[in-house]
Amino acid sequence: MKAWFRRSGLENGKVGILRTAGGTPPGQPAGPSDFAQGRRWRYGEELMRALASRMSVMSGEGALSVFARAKELEKQGRSIIHLELGEPDFHSSATVNEAAKRALDEGKDRYCAVAGVPALREELAVYLRDTRNLHVSPENIVIAPGCKVALFMALMALVDAGDEVLYPQPGFPGFLSIILGMGGVAVPFELSGRNHFQPDPEEITAKITPRTKALITNSPSNPIGTVYTDAVQRRIAELAVEHDLLVLSDEIYARIIYGGKYVSMMSYPGMEERTLVLDGFSKSFAMTGWRLGYVVAPPPVVPALEMLAINSYTCVSEFLQYAAIEALKDREGATPRMVREFAGRRAQFVRDLNRVPGFRCALPEGAFYAWVNVADTGISAEELCRILLEEAGVAAIPGAAFGPSGAEFVRFSFASSTANLKEAVERILRVSKAWQSTTARSAEKVY
Ligand code: PMP
Repeated sequence: MKAWFRRSGLENGKVGILRTAGGTPPGQPAGPSDFAQGRRWRYGEELMRALASRMSVMSGEGALSVFARAKELEKQGRSIIHLELGEPDFHSSATVNEAAKRALDEGKDRYCAVAGVPALREELAVYLRDTRNLHVSPENIVIAPGCKVALFMALMALVDAGDEVLYPQPGFPGFLSIILGMGGVAVPFELSGRNHFQPDPEEITAKITPRTKALITNSPSNPIGTVYTDAVQRRIAELAVEHDLLVLSDEIYARIIYGGKYVSMMSYPGMEERTLVLDGFSKSFAMTGWRLGYVVAPPPVVPALEMLAINSYTCVSEFLQYAAIEALKDREGATPRMVREFAGRRAQFVRDLNRVPGFRCALPEGAFYAWVNVADTGISAEELCRILLEEAGVAAIPGAAFGPSGAEFVRFSFASSTANLKEAVERILRVSKAWQSTTARSAEKVY
């Protein structure tokens, strides 16, 4: 396979034709595909046809491409304030790191249970009871290498070609990309400022068809920070029961809320049997690089998730799982401390952003993103982000990266130090003359 790719030039990162001569590529079984039929692919033509069609419908993440450009500028010696990635500026706590080292010293470096080590699944069940009032059995939990993989597996396990999946828009780019990658039909429901960025159950109702299989919720939401209200969640749950839908509830920001108690979609009547909770350690425990996530699934779905694990990553690193137990046990420590810190930054950063000509930003209720309406700057969010990055050294993401309804917005992460956030707004103010001439700032702020 390797030699084959080398011959095609793909190893050098070139996008092009994968095959220069007829015949089946080494290592490929003969089959009905164009490859196996010995068709000729000429370099530079028939671009991408050699790849599975799903590759043309999947997409990357705006955050990662802005990050790449920001890194390039840094290499050139520029100072960049990184507000593009959804990554806490905290690290895993010392007790968690110690536990990882201890686990390694104890020889916990083996293949282990496919669904995750029993001790972690048991601790997760207790954690979800204490922090989310969910009563789930450890047998219903499958550990995955990251919440994104959890989402990927859940959609792979559930979505057949042509199945419709409702998802929030603007939303985490993985929702749309993975639905499409699985051959599903992605049906967005809007989180609009007109509706306080809440899902509109009437819109959802209107979009349910006999082909609707599942609905994705994400509260608190990325990129907006909306915490779905009880009334909205209750209505979504009723619709799910009425239309026999599965709900994939991405709860990765559940612990990062600024007031109130978190209510999981799984806790509404009739939802236990049809909800898959997707979560992980990246945000709540500032463990992005550990790649640890999990799915809580109804019993019939669990073997399917295990099957996908067996066919892909086999099991999540054993010593990481033991260390994760320590993170979960620390209910009152690291996470609430981090959230208190975020709360202070949220107040300050949103207040400061609203001082920038043409910027309008409401206080997010959860997560750590400021979702800023920049329509009044008179320039596009893309142009604005370009100016911010290239001229001010502030990396942020144009809202369209999260779906077309995000076109007039920019997402800034405030998971950065208070000093960085202050400096970022100062830099933005300094370059704001670039759009001030076109700014028609509305007297009354409507988000
Ligand atoms: N879901 C949402 C809503 C997210 O914002 C993210 C990360 N940005 C993920 C899933 C992926 O999390 P992980 O790092 O655990 O894969």
